[in-house]
Amino acid sequence: MTSTFEWREAPASDYAVLGDPVGHSLSPRMFSAAFAETGLPYQYVATRVPLEEFEAAMNRLAGLGYLGVNVTVPLKEAAFRWCARHEGLAERIGAANTIRLAERAGTNTDAPGLLDVLVEQAIPEGPILVLGAGGSARAALAALSDAGRELALWNRTRTRAEELLEELSVSAKVLDTIAAGGFAAILNTTSASLSGQELSVDWTGALPGALAFDLAYGPQPTPFVRDAEAHGVRAIDGRPLLVAQGARAFEWWFGIEAPRSAMLQAVA
Ligand code: NDP
Repeated sequence: MTSTFEWREAPASDYAVLGDPVGHSLSPRMFSAAFAETGLPYQYVATRVPLEEFEAAMNRLAGLGYLGVNVTVPLKEAAFRWCARHEGLAERIGAANTIRLAERAGTNTDAPGLLDVLVEQAIPEGPILVLGAGGSARAALAALSDAGRELALWNRTRTRAEELLEELSVSAKVLDTIAAGGFAAILNTTSASLSGQELSVDWTGALPGALAFDLAYGPQPTPFVRDAEAHGVRAIDGRPLLVAQGARAFEWWFGIEAPRSAMLQAVA
């Protein structure tokens, strides 16, 4: 079991995952396994940071000597604004999930990590439906659009979906209901599963071999994964992405190949 700290009480450490909530995160387990495997002498903790306290928390962690952080829900856009320098797709996406504190440098490893997972999963040709319009939806839409995929987008707050597409200059059909018919993959980037909430999805007519991909994960299959499987659609939760984006974060921090199998084993 990983200990989670409130940022005001966080101990001196080297790396951390920041989020709110963050108690569910498997990042400490995954990065501790990566450090053990590669002989890096670092510690990694999970720390809860409310959105409005992000700046203050980062100042405290920098003062405590933290070298880097991963950032999760709902802090990725605040993390982008905190960074003075952006690398990779962070600038295009407007969200950062991996930071080097000393340089105030940030990157986004969700976007390339997500493409890694879709390649591993061999999804069929065809359009992709993205659910949600937060930080990880930004990454998904930018990466998939740049990769030439046809896209559709649904968000609980429709106007936010429309604004997001305009900001990213991505073209996608905005849907009012979630219907999987004709899609090769349905990516749930909402945080609904984190609070155990179900989305109302019509799974009829998903393409053969289509993938339901919930970015969230937990000790039990998420409501989205359960619902897809109950309707005969193959489904994965966020663990493969956790490893893919984590491996890319590791490589960005340390410039050496990440021990992917040890990382995967640690979260399996
Ligand atoms: P954000 O807070 O930026 O965005 C949350 C989105 O979820 C918004 O679009 C919001 O809609 C929507 N939402 C929240 N609650 C509900 C609900 N009950 N029903 C429908 N929609 C809802 O979050 P992130 O994009 O940063 O993260 C989203 C999820 O992805 C989290 O579960 C996170 O853990 C997971 N994730 C996992 C990764 C991994 O490595 N496995 C990597 C990245 C993300 P609205 O606009 O209407 O408020």
